[in-house]
Amino acid sequence: MSNNFSEKIISWYLEKGRKDLPWRNNISPYRVWISEIMLQQTQVKTVIPYFKKFIERYPDIDSISQASEDELLAIWSGLGFYKRAQNIFKAKEIIKNDFSNKFPDKFEEILMLPGIGRSTAGAIMAIAYKKSYPILDANVKRVITRYSGIDEFSKTKLDKALWLESTKLKADKKIFEYTQGVMDLGATVCTAKNMNCKNCPLNKECESAFKSLNKGLLLPKSKKLKKEKMDYVLAYTLDKILLIKRDKKRFWQSLWVPIEKNSGIIIDHSKAESINKINISHKLSHLELVISVSLLKFKKPFDVLSNSEVYWINKIDIDNIGVPKPIKDILVTL
Ligand code: SF4
Repeated sequence: MSNNFSEKIISWYLEKGRKDLPWRNNISPYRVWISEIMLQQTQVKTVIPYFKKFIERYPDIDSISQASEDELLAIWSGLGFYKRAQNIFKAKEIIKNDFSNKFPDKFEEILMLPGIGRSTAGAIMAIAYKKSYPILDANVKRVITRYSGIDEFSKTKLDKALWLESTKLKADKKIFEYTQGVMDLGATVCTAKNMNCKNCPLNKECESAFKSLNKGLLLPKSKKLKKEKMDYVLAYTLDKILLIKRDKKRFWQSLWVPIEKNSGIIIDHSKAESINKINISHKLSHLELVISVSLLKFKKPFDVLSNSEVYWINKIDIDNIGVPKPIKDILVTL
């Protein structure tokens, strides 16, 4: 059964949709998967160069099947939310072992892969397999909330109501165009900060059309970030840098960072040729990191006693390991 909402979205997409985005060419389940994971919590313009780089290195499921977690974290460096790369690693191992290295084509199987929730699985089904499944990413939530005039009550009830509405409104045919259209409309016309109702194809039936922006309606809340202090000792030589694989779960897990001052690893400052200090601040989604790094230059590498993975890594290999962006910004200057 067709509906006005989906028909209008499809016509609008065919005329004005962003068809030139790199993941909208040579569509495959693999490419849709990688793009959808990258687009979780990250804006389109940030994702584009990362997606291109990722696909150049790993163009298909065969090419990614032998990649190590370190290699995936390296190519993800700077994109943030590194758990996503770790989930891609886990998922491609499952695809290799349980699905003969073929991306699954059933919704329930896709949903079981790490890092893939109901909306991402729906997007893969709709875009890659052209099967009519609803999605509910942040853009779609906003459009549907405004269009149907859904009031915010408890989060669980809101999510349930939005899924029902998204299921009701989705297209039965041309689901490919519909899904990308509704995402695009939320990203370009019915945005969090601006309702461009004049140019919106839904403005005749939309419950919120031409009304002032409802402040309580799914607007991104500007939150005050909690500060967290980090003290690092960065030992380096002319061509090597001493790094440790971070094992803390809260953020940057499995990425390579300098030695934390309170890690128990002892570095003898008196042998350093030069000592400098850098202070930087870096925002994560939930924290502001206030990072202090002591830069210690040594003549040659020395042995380090630790149960953790600590290595003197060649400077020229920095691009081949996963390093958080603010740390990498320092490393490239050494
Ligand atoms: S008419 Fe306005 S509020 Fe309604 S979906 Fe379009 S842009 Fe959003």
